[in-house]
Order: sequence, then structure tokens, then C-alpha cells
Amino acid sequence: MYDLIVIGGGPAGLTAAIYAIRKRLNVLLISEDLGGKTNYHLDLPDVESYQIIRGVEVVNKFKSELEYLDFTRLMKRVERVEKTEDSFVVYTQDGGELEARAVIVATGTRQEWLDVPGEREYLSKGLCYSALSYAPLFIDKDTVVVGEDDLALRSAAELSVVAHHVDVVGPSAAALQTPLGQKLVRAENVTILSDYRVTRVEGNGYCNTVVVKNNHGQEKKLMADGTFIEKGLRPNSQMVARLVELDAKGFIKVDSYSHTTTPGVFAAGDVTNIYAEQVLVAVGEGVKAALSAYDYLLPHL
Ligand SMILES: Cc1cc2nc3c(=O)[nH]c(=O)nc-3n(C[C@H](O)[C@H](O)[C@H](O)COP(=O)(O)OP(=O)(O)OC[C@H]3O[C@@H](n4cnc5c(N)ncnc54)[C@H](O)[C@@H]3O)c2cc1C
Repeated sequence: MYDLIVIGGGPAGLTAAIYAIRKRLNVLLISEDLGGKTNYHLDLPDVESYQIIRGVEVVNKFKSELEYLDFTRLMKRVERVEKTEDSFVVYTQDGGELEARAVIVATGTRQEWLDVPGEREYLSKGLCYSALSYAPLFIDKDTVVVGEDDLALRSAAELSVVAHHVDVVGPSAAALQTPLGQKLVRAENVTILSDYRVTRVEGNGYCNTVVVKNNHGQEKKLMADGTFIEKGLRPNSQMVARLVELDAKGFIKVDSYSHTTTPGVFAAGDVTNIYAEQVLVAVGEGVKAALSAYDYLLPHL
């Protein structure tokens, strides 16, 4: 039996695992990959890497340590986690069963795709899912935001502060009634395209055009130096949906000690209901979850 199983090999899970190893816990990290979403980033012409806070230095350091310590990792997909009397069993997709006294869930989120021609081709080439990370780079640029609700409006509002122009495709009527929605409606450099949907994205090496169509079949071509798909993030929390409390959107509820509602189960990073989806936040949350798990385990060590 392990002391601790960490599920997820992104910034939160890697950091938690390395902290647990330093505390000399008998730990296993189970993940489909190492690095998580840090394996992707938005590539833009004329942007130097120092202009973006990617936070990958510490993540890459922890990743290489874990690659070296191969007995501490298992590259598998986890299906579910169940509680026994005094431990937890982690079930992997290939039928494996692994037991631990405590579990940290750090499985991140997945984005909603548009599922239109050109999207996969230009993914990370001018087309991205994280205005939170990149909006300040778009000074005097033309941008497009696609999405219905508060996430899209928040991204459009942040872009509107610096960009030359922002086209917002598909915001709902309800979202436009909010204070942020009203600000966008009034902004001179923002065009709201509520009844349009994206039909394809085009470019030349980098995405530079978003083609949209309305219900009457009218088509427009929106020119964009940067396009942000902000249709929401879906937490990868299904494996513990019966074990811990989730919020209305499926994010794992945690307190300031990374405790979930089930003692012995901790969670960290994008899969939780904490603000905000950033690498350095996930790293910090991973530290906290590992230290809290250590305190939980201490009476048994
Ligand atoms: C394109 C893009 C660019 C970004 N750019 C930046 C940036 O410049 N700066 C910044 O700070 N943030 C950026 N972000 C956000 C940042 O990457 C995330 O906030 C961060 O990676 C979250 O870390 P995490 O460990 O919580 O989750 P993730 O990085 O999502 O890692 C989750 C891990 O869990 C594993 N996993 C999931 N489900 C299972 C399962 N069932 N079984 C086993 N393993 C599983 C995955 O394989 C992965 O290893 C960007 C995000 C995207 C999508």
C-alpha cells in the first residue's frame, strides 16, 4: 500500500509528487502524461518568450526528476477512486487497482472545442483557449473571442483594454445584461456578434481569419491577430464524483488547506474551484495539497 497516490502529472500533480518524495512518503504519481497543459502554449509571431509568464521552469525541473525516478510514476488513465475502511483504491483503465492511505487529485480541465475546419491546424498558432495568459500581448491588435458566457465576456473585456478591436462571437443575451456585458456593449472598440457562429478558421502559418455565419446564412470574415475560444473549461473530476463534493460546474470543492469534503482526499490545480487557471497557481496549490496530505498521514508514519 502506498502512503499517497497523486493523480495527474501537470504542474499541480508534479509539484505535489515531488514535495511528497522530499517528505519521504511512499508516493506514486499516476497520469496520462507528464507536464499536462504546459505541453501547449500559444505561438505568436513577434512575441519573445520573456513576455509571457509560463512558469514552466519549475515544472520542467520536477518533470525531469520524476522521469528519472521511474518507480514513482505510472503512465495510465485513472477511471475511478473508491474508499475502503481505512484507505482508497485507485482503479486504472487497464484494470489495475492501487491502494493508498491518501489521494491527491490534480487532473486539470479539458477545453470545449469549436469542432470547425482549421481549428486543430491552427491550435496554438494564433488560436488559443487562455486569454487570461495572453491578453496583455495584444496591444493595438485585432482580436476575436468566441463564447457564450462570463468567461468569454471576461476575456473580451480584458482584451478591449489593450487591443485595437475585439469581435465577440456568440455571447448570450443574459451574459450581455451583466455589468461586464454592458461595458462591452458600450465599448467603441468592441463589436458584438450574438447571432453568429464560427464556421471555419483560416490562416497562413498562423490563424488570421475567423469565418462566421448567422441564421440567415450571412457570412462575415473577421480579421484577427489573435483568436480566443472561451467556451469554458470542463474539470476532469468524474473519477471522484461519487467520493467528494463538486460545485455546480463539476469542479472539486476544496478549502484553503486543499481538503476535499472526504478526509484523506485532497485536490489541487485547475480541477478545483479555486481561482485562477495559471501554472504558478497550480504549482502553489500542489505544494499545499502535498503538505496537507503529509499532515494527514503523519499519525500513521
Ligand atoms: C494553450 C494553453 C496555454 C496556456 N498558457 C499558459 C501560460 O502561458 N501561463 C500560465 O500560467 N498558464 C497557462 N495556461 C494554463 C495552465 O496550463 C494551467 O492552468 C495549468 O497547466 C494547470 O495545471 P494542473 O496541473 O492543474 O492541470 P493540467 O496541466 O491540465 O494537468 C492535468 C494532468 O492530469 C492528467 N489527467 C487528467 N485526467 C486523467 C485521468 N483520468 N487519469 C490520469 N491522468 C489524468 C493529465 O494527463 C495531466 O497530466 C495555458 C493553458 C492552455 C490550454
